[in-house]
Amino acid sequence: MSHVGRFCSKVVIVTLLLTFNSALVAQPDRFSEVVIEATKLTDSIYMLTGAGGNLAVSVGADGLLLVDDQYAAMAERIADALANLPGTSATQQSLKYVINTHHHGDHTGGNDFFANAGATIIANEAARVRLLARAPSAEAPLPVITYHEGVHIYFNSDRLKLVALEGHTDGDTAVYFEGANVLHAGDLFFNERFPFIDTDSGGGVGAYLSSQETLLAMINDDTVVVPGHGPIASRGDLLAMHDMIRSTRAAVVEGMSAGMSLAQIQERGLDQAYQSFAWAFIGEAKWIETLYWDTMKNRVSP
Ligand SMILES: [Zn+2]
Repeated sequence: MSHVGRFCSKVVIVTLLLTFNSALVAQPDRFSEVVIEATKLTDSIYMLTGAGGNLAVSVGADGLLLVDDQYAAMAERIADALANLPGTSATQQSLKYVINTHHHGDHTGGNDFFANAGATIIANEAARVRLLARAPSAEAPLPVITYHEGVHIYFNSDRLKLVALEGHTDGDTAVYFEGANVLHAGDLFFNERFPFIDTDSGGGVGAYLSSQETLLAMINDDTVVVPGHGPIASRGDLLAMHDMIRSTRAAVVEGMSAGMSLAQIQERGLDQAYQSFAWAFIGEAKWIETLYWDTMKNRVSP
């Protein structure tokens, strides 16, 4: 018995060491070279980029407010970038609020770090449900302010309109800084890219399009638009991506009505004009597949 017991514990220790080592090795490899860069959008709003979704920061007399917080591994670098934003005095460096545009880990990974540092997390109620479902422990910080339709936040002499939407997931939020005329669209906008639509988390193409219509109606040609992924954009860029989805969906629906299989539609491909929207995560074949199964599920007609 004692031999077996000793053998077993050795196996367990070796396994634990292997797991521990690969966890240690995996993280720095992926993020070690990533630098957080800040771009000034207005006197009080910056966009930060690093790994994962784009961030927006409001800076002013009330302190700091952050829209999204990327991956956990990036949190300390984000905190450093916030502390070093030009024009921020020590009293303005206190991070009061973090808004999650949805539950995905490349937008919420820093929640633990920033909540433990004193920030209040705010999100769509449906996003909180998904964050709760995958929380590693009962102590893990979660959004403490939620909404079903939206909420206003008065901060740094502006009014932020948080609009609860659906399409990328079932718990999306867009954040519109009304005075500054800056919109953070979350992943309802992948600028110059085919979007990821998380159908396993309640997303869908129809809802994605109607949420984009809501955003297009809210903003104007002077609005600075921060997409969830991709470079800083305008209303025209959002409209171009919206039109791309409409047009490529129509082509897929037309192919399906003509009796083509998914493989045949992928073989035919999309209009040349949309080739540049392909990227590592969502290439043309993957985007066609998203449109195909969404159409199948929702019986979209041409
Ligand atoms: Zn996402």
